[in-house]
Amino acid sequence: DFYGLEGKSLDVTKLFAFSNSSLLTQSTEAVPEGSYAEQQAEHGEGPVSTYVPFRNGLFLSAAASLALSLDCGYLYYGAHADDAAGNAYPDCTDAFYNAMGTALYEGSGYELKLEAPFIHSNKSDVVREGLRLQVPYELTWSCYEGGERPCGHCGTCIDRIEAFRANGMEDPAL
Ligand SMILES: [Zn+2]
Repeated sequence: DFYGLEGKSLDVTKLFAFSNSSLLTQSTEAVPEGSYAEQQAEHGEGPVSTYVPFRNGLFLSAAASLALSLDCGYLYYGAHADDAAGNAYPDCTDAFYNAMGTALYEGSGYELKLEAPFIHSNKSDVVREGLRLQVPYELTWSCYEGGERPCGHCGTCIDRIEAFRANGMEDPAL
């Protein structure tokens, strides 16, 4: 509504029904508290418990199909380096982005290009660019809990709070 754009949504509940990722509502695990670095210090490097199996691969494939149907030549994806660190989210890495970009380009008959403008940026770089573009951050959501307000304790809340502080301000959504 803010930008006057038409949104589209797709229900993928059934595809994730067999996963116990802590990010999903049917999970028996709680969303962990603490930064990704703290989580990996405890459990080792590799996917964190909030990683949803091949989620970005699924989203990008679905978006590619929609894009081709709507005559779009570019697909933008918001992966950033903090999520890729330590392979916390292996579907946010440079290697994944390049491989997926190639797959979408080949599989679309060279019609669709994948762009990930923040793939080498950390979250404070993302916040800085958004401030320059006057993004209405008070309308944005990062938290992994489904409350009325961000929890302030999950990995993505902590990353976001630190990203705003690195830019000399408090998170306006908190
Ligand atoms: Zn949170």
